[in-house]
Amino acid sequence: MIIAIDIGGTKLSASLISDSNLIDGRRASTPKSGAASDLIVALEQLITPLLSKATSIVVASTGIINQGRLTAVNPDNLGGLNDFPLQSVLENISGLPVKLLNDAQAAAWGEYCQLAEKNCRNMAFITVSTGVGAGLIINGELLTGMSGLAGHAGHMTLDVNGPTCGCGRSGCVEALASGTAIGQLASDLYKTDLDAKAVFERYHQGEQDARMVIDRSAQAIAELLGNLRALLDIEVAVIGGSVGLAEGYLERVHHFMEQQPPLFQVDLQLAQLGHEAGLKGAALWAEQEQASQECAAQ
Ligand SMILES: [Zn+2]
Repeated sequence: MIIAIDIGGTKLSASLISDSNLIDGRRASTPKSGAASDLIVALEQLITPLLSKATSIVVASTGIINQGRLTAVNPDNLGGLNDFPLQSVLENISGLPVKLLNDAQAAAWGEYCQLAEKNCRNMAFITVSTGVGAGLIINGELLTGMSGLAGHAGHMTLDVNGPTCGCGRSGCVEALASGTAIGQLASDLYKTDLDAKAVFERYHQGEQDARMVIDRSAQAIAELLGNLRALLDIEVAVIGGSVGLAEGYLERVHHFMEQQPPLFQVDLQLAQLGHEAGLKGAALWAEQEQASQECAAQ
């Protein structure tokens, strides 16, 4: 069995996975101190009870996975922790082989394995939540990139005069479409603090300002998908995340996509795996990598 670990900005979770089923799942809070030693202790406590039954470990983590190290696009996500030797830490704790993925990349692979269209070769997964994460499947394979950055479509610029993003660029998709961006724009308009959930409640009550805020996000995602279609010939886009799965959101993305020429439109679908997407996707990817390595060795 594989231990799959999900490292997020607010929680850590780990589970034994057998035939895509989660067994003996465990959770803990992500340390907010930004100290590497605190994250090491938290990971050790999380996985030690699972080690006796496991033969390998795979991780889906926020941030960028670059040659075994976890680095941050936005260091605030891990309490200021900017560079962490994740692979060697887990190997030292467990004595097991360890594979690492970015969490959106892992979820993208999980969702790709769920697709009804088994002949789909090029898929984008976009998770619209606190930020905007993404992962790409190209020619049937998960794109990770030499330094782990591949697929971070949330940090592609849509508006060079747009708001500054947490990554340091201007007018990123994330700065226009994320739940954080929805809350900030709505708070400016309503002159009171609102989060994305509150904006959706107002939107469903028919408030025009809330609709405008949601539409800015949905239009940004539709434009991003048109760009990905032009760049990579994406056939299917799977939309997830708390904003992406909010009632009525996908319809607005679809509305803006239909305003683009047909050549730049993609098949839109809702994500199926929910909060387990990272764990399951990472485990499925590790199994597939193992199988292809065994195949190559024969
Ligand atoms: Zn950005």
